[in-house]
Amino acid sequence: MTNTLYHIIDGARVQPETDQYGDVYNPSTGEVTAKVPFATEKTVKEAVANAAAAFPDWAATTPLKRSRVMFKFRQLLEARSEDLARLIVKEHGKVFNDAHGSVTRGLEVVEFACGIAQLLKGEFTEQVGSGIDSYSLRQPLGVCAGITPFNFPAMVPMWMIPIALACGNTFVLKPSEKDPSTSLMLAELLLEAGLPKGVLNVVNGGKVAVDTLLTHPDVQAVSFVGSTPVAEHVYRTGSAHGKRVQALGGAKNHMVVMPDADMEQATDALMGAAYGSAGERCMAIAVAVAVGSAGEQLIARLVPRVRKLKINDGLEPSSEMGPLVTREHLAKVSGYVDLGVEEGAELLVDGRNFTVPGHEKGFFIGGSLFDHVTSEMRIYKEEIFGPVLVVVRVPDFDSAVKLINDHEFGNGTAVFTRDGDTARTFVSTIRVGMVGINVPIPVPMAFHSFGGWKRSLFGDHHIHGPEGVRFYTRLKTVTARWPTGIRAGADFIMPTM
Ligand code: NAD
Repeated sequence: MTNTLYHIIDGARVQPETDQYGDVYNPSTGEVTAKVPFATEKTVKEAVANAAAAFPDWAATTPLKRSRVMFKFRQLLEARSEDLARLIVKEHGKVFNDAHGSVTRGLEVVEFACGIAQLLKGEFTEQVGSGIDSYSLRQPLGVCAGITPFNFPAMVPMWMIPIALACGNTFVLKPSEKDPSTSLMLAELLLEAGLPKGVLNVVNGGKVAVDTLLTHPDVQAVSFVGSTPVAEHVYRTGSAHGKRVQALGGAKNHMVVMPDADMEQATDALMGAAYGSAGERCMAIAVAVAVGSAGEQLIARLVPRVRKLKINDGLEPSSEMGPLVTREHLAKVSGYVDLGVEEGAELLVDGRNFTVPGHEKGFFIGGSLFDHVTSEMRIYKEEIFGPVLVVVRVPDFDSAVKLINDHEFGNGTAVFTRDGDTARTFVSTIRVGMVGINVPIPVPMAFHSFGGWKRSLFGDHHIHGPEGVRFYTRLKTVTARWPTGIRAGADFIMPTM
């Protein structure tokens, strides 16, 4: 049965007749499960107007009261986390435990935002001049917008919303049109937690909705997470319209395996990081860089493991990997496997034409593994965003570092070694934003900040954690003297102490 979705504007569900409606699928069955409205410019403007109207009161609400809404939201999230996870499985396809874990990672950002009163504390200097004190404070920006990708429908909106709101901003979220229901549920839980109407609005849709937000004069800041071409468009357009923008883009994450690494540990790490969530993670490992003799040892262990991956509906408890998100994405990933063969890479495990009995219309693909991939091949250079691991063999550590540093993306990377010097040199010289040492997916916790380098991030600020508080506030510095202080007469020169 299909369900017709809605926007949330001014605390209410809205289904404009003027909107066009698109399909939302259950990737495991291939069936349409919902119709999602695509907001017109008019609908988006209405949402921004509501957020702008709600801003003065919300900004004037004390940080303690704002954090109490977050405490309550956290409680509701915990109570409803399994429902949220099931919703994610139904529209995204990933396995239930993984979906549940992603809800928890989002909840941790809410926990961070609960401490906003502490986080917003400014700085004070007594006596910057005789009888003069100076202090700095952080104030909210106004209406902020968030545009999010399909692959983490709960976690990525929660990288943005809790901190933006706790800082005193109001927000318009434009979630992915592929799996929008989770965002709607999050917004309704926030309303239940006591968030005033209009403080968070959700508009569904695609390019029209995004471009309206990017050019709207009342939107002060835009947080984007998605693919690099769209991230670049969002950054350029938003900045050209005077907005603060953080735009997180695509990735091609490398994991270096040194010959001294624990090969069993490295193989386990590669299996989870390359094939978990069917490779649809911006921190997935897409390239194994095997140094020297590590190549043969890794391949011997990986091939049987990739063949034995348990692939099924995400709600099936034994599943290790579910389907891809859409039929189009399945065709794209499958096309990259064709391309790798044409480019001359050695296809050791072929995941194409894979079906799950009883789910023949689902968007399933098996795990694929390529060996002897080179840096000129498109399967090495481009983000595939599917369960396709490529192995590049290099003679030594310096070649591994050069390979990674020369890649256009710089989101995450990892090194597997037992040698401290190797690990330390890797951390110091690698041009990538998030680095793991014997940790394949080094996603920073909520109280640190998340972000890549190079063409994996456009803008200055990483997302959530302390960087999130800086992004969603602007600094004001006050210099104060009281009339009872010393009178020094008119000053015609730069005062110096
Ligand atoms: P996407 O870029 O296709 O879509 C992201 C958002 O942009 C969606 O809300 C979509 O509706 C909107 N959008 C799409 N095309 C647009 C256009 N032409 N103009 C304006 N808006 C547009 O990304 P996706 O397929 O949903 O997500 C997968 C991508 O996201 C991958 O590249 C992945 O690496 C990346 N990602 C990055 C991070 C990170 O932290 N760097 C995290 C998660 C996902």
